[in-house]
Amino acid sequence: MLPLPYFALGLSGLLWQTVPVFHTAVSAIFLLLTYGALLALLLPFSNRLVPENDTPLSRIDERDIMFSRNLLQVDSQRFETYYKDNPDKKQLDDKFRKRPGLMQEGALYYDPFTTSAAEASFKTVAAFHAMLDEENLAERQVKTDPAKMSHFLKLWSKKLGAMSTGITELKKYHLYSTIGRGERYGEPVAIDHAFAIALTVEMEKPLLDRAPHGPTVMESAQQYLNSGAIAVQMAEFIRHLGYSARAHIDGSYRVVCPLVARDAGLGEIGRMGLLMTPELGPRVRIAVVTTDLTLVTDERTRDLSMIDFCRRCQKCADVCPSKAISFDGQKEINGAMRWQINSEACFTYWCTIGTDCAYCMRACPYSHPNNLLHNSIRLGLKRSPLFREFALKMDDFFYGRKPPAAPIPNWLNPSAQ
Ligand code: SF4
Ligand code: SF4
Repeated sequence: MLPLPYFALGLSGLLWQTVPVFHTAVSAIFLLLTYGALLALLLPFSNRLVPENDTPLSRIDERDIMFSRNLLQVDSQRFETYYKDNPDKKQLDDKFRKRPGLMQEGALYYDPFTTSAAEASFKTVAAFHAMLDEENLAERQVKTDPAKMSHFLKLWSKKLGAMSTGITELKKYHLYSTIGRGERYGEPVAIDHAFAIALTVEMEKPLLDRAPHGPTVMESAQQYLNSGAIAVQMAEFIRHLGYSARAHIDGSYRVVCPLVARDAGLGEIGRMGLLMTPELGPRVRIAVVTTDLTLVTDERTRDLSMIDFCRRCQKCADVCPSKAISFDGQKEINGAMRWQINSEACFTYWCTIGTDCAYCMRACPYSHPNNLLHNSIRLGLKRSPLFREFALKMDDFFYGRKPPAAPIPNWLNPSAQ
């Protein structure tokens, strides 16, 4: 995304230095016009956006999410009970069950190397599950200063590899109502921790740029592992100090991570239903630690410019191969104004291609690298509706409305000669 004002600014500077005729009134006018255009694009003109209620009224049942439904063994008691209680979902789920499946041979983009790498990461994350619910607390609680401890946890998590970390009070709607995976399937979620620490880790751009092919699922799995390892380590640390803590990581969540991360001030939830961070947009994975250790919470600063950009952009909806992302405005769902994707259509596509797709994530203009150029554009997006409109056009111009997948890096194909 290279906006015209930056280009014009650079060009005018170059001309000023190299072409003598530009040392005249003409060049002064040219420069004035350039700076005028730049100012007009960056001024917060008519940037008054009204926040809407985005707090859900009730909790989500984890048994309803696609990963839980995918784990139901055909003809098992759990399977029969679930579809007896949810007959509307049976026909929809029959569709994905007819496909080869996520990371399964026979799927369109199945690749033994990237799939095996992803399986290795998921299996390693699963090895952490035994550590999540254990509560071997130290006999005495170490006294801590909430502000200093919060500061320490944020800096430490970054040292461990987190891109951003925030703290919120744990709200009822952050928690799933019922456990949907593992041995405790069907049990109510009963966590009474007062605080939640949310952290994000970056998904590497060159691998995501290959979406929806194998490298994407490999990178997703890797970052589930990386975020999970940080959360597990932090929860273990807190328990050593004598306070209750639980990490919420891939395959064993008791909280809805994007909601916790949003309320911890790490971003907004955009059109594709994912957390959109100010630094990397949706190109992140999230893990959470809940605890009764007293911490200082972060203020949620609502960035309505992101929601406004999503209203205009619709790029993820355009690129989505399964048409799972809506072109419409936000709707009230469970009391909250939001976008909701068609998760059955999305998951059926995953089971067809064998990867977790992520084309929407790759195409999102907020997913560009976290560097000076793109950060100055992000600043413009935040400040001015005019700039948002302009930057969107530029993004389409430079990257395409439906950007093609990057070639597979050689190192990712061990069978290549
Ligand atoms: S692609 Fe556009 S509409 Fe979709 S989430 Fe990103 S900014 Fe929002
Ligand atoms: S992951 Fe793929 S199928 Fe799912 S919503 Fe995104 S683009 Fe659509």
